[in-house]
Amino acid sequence: MNPYDCIVIGGGASGLVSASLLAEAGRRVLLLEASGRLGGCVHTWRPAPDFWLELGAHTAYNSYGPLLEALARRGRLGELLTREKMGYQFADEEGRLQSPLARLSFLEAALRVPFGLTRPKAGRTVQEWFGGLLGSGNYQRLLGPAFAAVLSQSADNFPAEWLFRPKPRMKAAPRKFTFPGGLQGLLEALAQDAPFTTRTGVRVDAVQREAGGFAVTAAGERLTARQLVLATPVDVAAALLAESYPEAARRLHDYPMSTSEALGVVLPAARTSLRKVAGLIGAEEPFWSVVTRDPVPHAEYRGFTFHFRPGLLGQEAKLARIARLLGVTPGDFLHVESAVNRLPAPGVAHLARMAELDAQWTGEPVALVGNYLTGLSIGDCAERAAAEVQRLLSLPH
Ligand SMILES: Cc1cc2nc3c(=O)[nH]c(=O)nc-3n(C[C@H](O)[C@H](O)[C@H](O)COP(=O)(O)OP(=O)(O)OC[C@H]3O[C@@H](n4cnc5c(N)ncnc54)[C@H](O)[C@@H]3O)c2cc1C
Repeated sequence: MNPYDCIVIGGGASGLVSASLLAEAGRRVLLLEASGRLGGCVHTWRPAPDFWLELGAHTAYNSYGPLLEALARRGRLGELLTREKMGYQFADEEGRLQSPLARLSFLEAALRVPFGLTRPKAGRTVQEWFGGLLGSGNYQRLLGPAFAAVLSQSADNFPAEWLFRPKPRMKAAPRKFTFPGGLQGLLEALAQDAPFTTRTGVRVDAVQREAGGFAVTAAGERLTARQLVLATPVDVAAALLAESYPEAARRLHDYPMSTSEALGVVLPAARTSLRKVAGLIGAEEPFWSVVTRDPVPHAEYRGFTFHFRPGLLGQEAKLARIARLLGVTPGDFLHVESAVNRLPAPGVAHLARMAELDAQWTGEPVALVGNYLTGLSIGDCAERAAAEVQRLLSLPH
């Protein structure tokens, strides 16, 4: 008999919400994560015992229903940390800040908005829809760089319908929040004292469909289960499906991915006079964005994560650039850490392709969850996981 009903591959937000829901429904679940930590794109760096800085995702919202519900069932909802309300500013290399509104032409917007609002987002790119809404000048100066800062990649070809989807909000949670120990702490909380087994540092190398379920090969071990949740980045999912589901693997195979290079620095709070901000937008800079620790202030330190465009600058040049913007020298940095982030870079056509895949997949005992299917945010990932778990639970046991 299989010791597990379901194996979840990948320990990011998608995998952890899936594992929680399946286990709460009484399934015996094993979650396998390749890296030494849980969280995936939710990556909190903890350079000092009481200081953390986000190298990946930084903000969660009270519209992330299934994530918050999973946390509430673990009795941990009360631990959410409110992020102080602070804005984003455009920044140049000398650290001069500019308000986003200063880049908006009200005349251009006034002329466009009445026509722009009525068009559906479906089938249009971010540049087409938002450029149509506020005008192409406003898009180039303001919206394009602002969306790129959020996505850590150019937003121009992104599907417009993936941005600003209205969703119900959970009133019991702060509008914008993080967690003690950073956002990764929230995902770790889902795995603590959980009714499922988690193994980190275990990379899955192969998946085979066999009578009664699946065989998963990981670190030389063969594990079996009746059902499978693939909660990995899209390129890994394509590789793992290649043998048993070649048609699905083919659809996922050429899904574009983007890379950005995160560099986090921590310095004594008194060293830099940069105004407190949630983040910076680097319209003409080698970075897409800077995310700060300022919305969760710390008495002694300030922290900044620069999300650089890939392949432009080496480590020393990046540190020199950061120091110039903060008005300090690289010697002022107490801690420095880097990470590479990868995200899907879908065009409009990829959404249609994922919908086709879903339509053919309804009876399969394997769930595809992740940020390449219905949206990029942690909330989108949690929603997708909840829907796919419902589908798996509805299949004959
Ligand atoms: C810089 C940045 C900032 C962001 N900011 C925000 C934000 O503020 N708010 C927000 O809501 N979203 C944000 N996002 C998006 C969001 O964080 C991600 O889309 C989401 O967390 C993805 O979760 P996931 O579980 O689907 O995938 P991932 O987080 O990519 O997790 C996949 C996991 O699978 C594991 N894995 C891969 N291969 C294998 C294998 N063979 N075997 C076992 N495990 C494997 C990986 O190690 C990883 O842990 C941001 C993303 C980035 C990169």
